[in-house]
Amino acid sequence: MIDSNEIIEQVRNAGVVGAGGAGFPAHIKLNNKCDVVIANFAECEPLLFTNQALVMAKVDEVLEGLQLAMKATGAKMGIIALKKKYSDCKRVLSDKLKDYDNMEIFELGDFYPAGDEHVIVREVLGRKIPMAGIPLDVGAVVHNVETLYNIKKAYSDKLPVTEKFVTVGGAVKYPLVLNVPVGMKFSELLDLAGGPTAKDFILIDGGPMMGKEVGLDDVVTKTTSALLVVPINTLPYSSRRIKIDVQLKRARTACCQCRICTDLCPRYLLGHKLEPHKIMRAISFGLMDAESLINSLLCSECGLCEVTCPMGLSPRNINASLKKMLFEKKVRFNKTLVETERPEREIRKFSAKKLLVRLGLSDYYRHIDYTDKKIKAKEVKLLLKQHAGSPAIPVVKVGDKVNKNDVVAKIQEGQLGANIHASIDGTVVKIDETSIVVKSE
Ligand code: SF4
Ligand code: SF4
Repeated sequence: MIDSNEIIEQVRNAGVVGAGGAGFPAHIKLNNKCDVVIANFAECEPLLFTNQALVMAKVDEVLEGLQLAMKATGAKMGIIALKKKYSDCKRVLSDKLKDYDNMEIFELGDFYPAGDEHVIVREVLGRKIPMAGIPLDVGAVVHNVETLYNIKKAYSDKLPVTEKFVTVGGAVKYPLVLNVPVGMKFSELLDLAGGPTAKDFILIDGGPMMGKEVGLDDVVTKTTSALLVVPINTLPYSSRRIKIDVQLKRARTACCQCRICTDLCPRYLLGHKLEPHKIMRAISFGLMDAESLINSLLCSECGLCEVTCPMGLSPRNINASLKKMLFEKKVRFNKTLVETERPEREIRKFSAKKLLVRLGLSDYYRHIDYTDKKIKAKEVKLLLKQHAGSPAIPVVKVGDKVNKNDVVAKIQEGQLGANIHASIDGTVVKIDETSIVVKSE
């Protein structure tokens, strides 16, 4: 008999966090009651094959993880939401589903951002999450498929999160999907993929739309879904390098109020009060008060407005900075029910293919399968904060010998966070405010 508290405890101990997003600790999500668990297998960021490779290689573990998540939350139904175009994955999943009760598959269209929690819940269940709300508000919990895999490993195998499935793609010689130690340097990942093929490039941790620019010395975390190499002038990274006060000045002078950003905004189309063109207008009139800007708090920062603005402006970057400013002023958007969805939503969904063209990354699109190879790292840098919440507190000191899977940093008492574990055998050679470095013998 499986005990739901035991699942939650094991998942907490193992440091499982959302593998496909902001790294929200999984034990917190599991410690809620809901009627359905959605396995988020949209993988809607262009060039990513991480989840597809994982499902092809570890389908049993993913489904067992879904079963455990259903058990912990008391959900009567588990739904695997994948894009219709992942036909091989669908076949593999369908073959296995007969061994599981109350699970089914839902096919999503090939649009961006199909994996946004508000969007996926609307697509799969037809339920509208309130503005500023979460899936639980409508009886659902959403977990990425790799998070479910880690839940299975935590509960059934008593193994913590020390490895990460990662796509190494874009402008590289040999694009790969690998399972690598958390804390491994990106430069080593790049070497495994044969190095970059572009002369002037940037590295992205994650997808091209919502990932972040990183350096060769940065490292894999529990939320690294990909390491992408893209040309230096790729949107949206070129616009992110422009200082925010310059972006605000440009918004004041260049926004022509065409409202394309609003017409394509996935949150606006769901019926939310977010209308980015109005925020741009408020800024151009110098209206910087909370009342004029509060709807920016509804922005998911998906970046669609940024890649479609004909004037090269970035409502996303502006919303992100306004959100920060409002947050510091303790301004919050109260949870509000969504009344009606925009009737044009269906025809305004932005196709993934078109997005790839907009980003100028079509040449790098190649299907990538999983390379089942043991990857070793000589040294790992384990970040103390690779999850939502507070940084973990080190429980080791310099000179300590650690084995793979040993806990090296723990959640602060009473705080939101996640434990961190050694991803290789070795010696702790450095500890600072942000990380623990372990070197193999
Ligand atoms: S798409 Fe660009 S120019 Fe058009 S309203 Fe939005 S920010 Fe302004
Ligand atoms: S980033 Fe732009 S398109 Fe995406 S939710 Fe925010 S305003 Fe809408």
